Amino acid sequence: MRCWAEININNLYSNIDEIQKIVPKEKIIAVIKADAYGHGMLKICDALIKKGIKNFAVATSDEALKIKELHNDIMVLILGPVENEYMDLIADKKIYFMVTDFEEIEFLEKTGTENSKTVDVFIKIDTGMGRVGFQENEAGQLNKILKNVKHINPIGIFSHFSSSDSDKEYTKLQERKFKAMCEKISSGIPSIRYRHLHNSFGTLKFQESIEDFVRAGIIIYGGVTDRETAPYKFKPVMSLFAKISYIKTLKEDSFISYGNTYLGKAGKTYATVSIGYADGVRRDLSNKGYVFYKGHKCEIVGRVCMDQLMILLPEELEGVAQKGDVVEFFGENIGVAEVAELCGTISYEILCGISQRVPRIYVEK
Ligand SMILES: *Cc1c(COP(=O)(O)O)cnc(C)c1O
Repeated sequence: MRCWAEININNLYSNIDEIQKIVPKEKIIAVIKADAYGHGMLKICDALIKKGIKNFAVATSDEALKIKELHNDIMVLILGPVENEYMDLIADKKIYFMVTDFEEIEFLEKTGTENSKTVDVFIKIDTGMGRVGFQENEAGQLNKILKNVKHINPIGIFSHFSSSDSDKEYTKLQERKFKAMCEKISSGIPSIRYRHLHNSFGTLKFQESIEDFVRAGIIIYGGVTDRETAPYKFKPVMSLFAKISYIKTLKEDSFISYGNTYLGKAGKTYATVSIGYADGVRRDLSNKGYVFYKGHKCEIVGRVCMDQLMILLPEELEGVAQKGDVVEFFGENIGVAEVAELCGTISYEILCGISQRVPRIYVEK
């Protein structure tokens, strides 16, 4: 293997234990969209079921169908939009989805009349994320309509924080809006039994307002720093590794990689590593990132190529480094959040950007 992502299931379990300091596992909806943030949806789902998690959320109908096919006894909620032509199949499979506007309610009522079925749905409301969901000024009308529907059984309401990691005031405002809108929408409708609002950072920082569930994603995978999650501690589930394929000590100064952006120095030793941007190592890390190798942080030099990249070996490793040795891009020694920051993005994007070409190796240690 030239490169691989090691997925540490024990760290996954430890992260669930950490969330259980805040809510019991019955209240956790594990978010496993986008192939479980790049960790492998089916394997992560299996492991979480073993750990006693029974509720899951995905983003698309295809993800939901795949998971429900293998585990019929778990609760699966789709967090993204469901196209009309999927709704019937999704409901038949007892997968939960959301309605976000009056048009969807109309559609479900119409098809329900035709096939005499009733579907369970969650009502999605917009409390400030500004993505999808019923608006505050629609709450009254929604309540009226839901009291009269015949083929829709609203079982819950949820909404999403936009800035629970960064803006306390705004998050508090969302909490208040959520409460008020829920009251208005569910008034006189006893079938609406479940409410949930909290994502990972909401769960850590706004515990008082947790209701029936939390939807935890990034903290399950440990794509966070201790600083932002204190006093809680999450462990990285994914570590990214690649092998050294070539080592040279330059006899004279010469350029390294595309575009001649880095001039290698005579006498210095450079190693080529078998991973590149097609694997998910961002090109932003050219002349900027580093890898962890035998106790040292080694700089990435020159541009990251599609399948390979070069690193500078510190003096201590000259003559020690060997072809076939393994270097870490992120994991126990370099945080994925640190890498994300160098790339001007968030850990989420780095994790789900590790491409399908990279084998996932599951370990319990
Ligand atoms: C992705 C997503 C989550 C999980 O977010 P994290 O920040 O990873 O915890 C929760 N709710 C919704 C609606 C989402 O789209």
